[in-house]
Amino acid sequence: MKDRIRRLEQDRDLPDRDLLDLIVMQDAEAEALLAQRAAAVRQQVYGRDVFIRGLIEFTNYCRNDCFYCGIRRSNACAQRYRLTREEILACCRAGYGLGFRTFVLQGGEDPFFTTERLAELVRAIKRAYPDCAVTLSVGEKDRATYQAWFDAGADRYLLRHETADEGLYRRLHPEELSLQNRMRCLRDLKDIGYQVGCGFMVGAPFQTPEMLLKDLRFLQAFQPHMVGIGPFIPHRDTPFRDCPPGTAQMTLRLLAIIRLTLPHVLLPATTALGTVQSDGRQRGMGYGANVVMPNLSPLSVRKKYALYDNKISTGEEAAESVALLKQSMAAAGYRVVTARGDWKGGGQ
Ligand code: SAM
Repeated sequence: MKDRIRRLEQDRDLPDRDLLDLIVMQDAEAEALLAQRAAAVRQQVYGRDVFIRGLIEFTNYCRNDCFYCGIRRSNACAQRYRLTREEILACCRAGYGLGFRTFVLQGGEDPFFTTERLAELVRAIKRAYPDCAVTLSVGEKDRATYQAWFDAGADRYLLRHETADEGLYRRLHPEELSLQNRMRCLRDLKDIGYQVGCGFMVGAPFQTPEMLLKDLRFLQAFQPHMVGIGPFIPHRDTPFRDCPPGTAQMTLRLLAIIRLTLPHVLLPATTALGTVQSDGRQRGMGYGANVVMPNLSPLSVRKKYALYDNKISTGEEAAESVALLKQSMAAAGYRVVTARGDWKGGGQ
């Protein structure tokens, strides 16, 4: 196993069989080496800097009905909210004061936020904070809409591909959603000039190691600037309520494999990872992650943006606790920095 890890580091690639073996390995020593090499590669590119992104979950209205997601339109138990323009700008103001230089506007696919409304909001944020990056994560749109938001000043876009396996995509989503359109969106976003993030859930229902291999192959082919992965966690009001969650261990292992395949990638240790394991986000750094996304949403709505059960929302994941986050990252040998934290791969 160890020679495969070294080969992966050196070639950024392995034959299918070897990569699959790494995905499913049960070898603590090799696991430690994998983490160590991923952390070393992260260090060569980004040093020990940890970039922070202020996450603003600005609406939980969603027209989609993804089977895994707690804010799916059929969940009548979800308490719906959408922040006003002023509330969103207030989040940015608070975040700027705390040292954030990237704001991530994430939400369900809420028709209230039309192309023009969101473009205006992006312009307002960029006017007020020209030294900050704006990341959008609001789902599937047509190319003209993505272009309008880019022209308004949006820098980055997060759209997880969810799975590169057609069959799994079908089992996780209703008929009206297609992997083909998800991929079309990702291509458009990259073509327009965004720094683009894709990603997937680890341990999603029906997911097999072979499907994870397909995800890794997709990442290699697409060459995203960012990759967001986190364990699947069931939500009690969804069809997948009884499915087991993904594990922190598998998520950490995949973070490390992704770092070795894409050395320059911006790789967050996600809230979902911190939810399945309390120190998951710190541990993520030890497996090659270099980004955390503390929550800047108003306290009153944090629980309502419930994609899954038991989402952490009182401790270090909160933006107010940046000081605590800095301390715990420093204790683990990392430095939380105030910087936009752009991709360091050069070109597109
Ligand atoms: N609507 C936008 C979109 O589709 O990209 C952004 C919001 S969406 C809720 C953000 C991500 O949450 C999804 O891409 C999905 O991977 C993740 N997610 C949803 N339900 C989840 C669950 N039960 N466990 C873990 N992650 C989940």
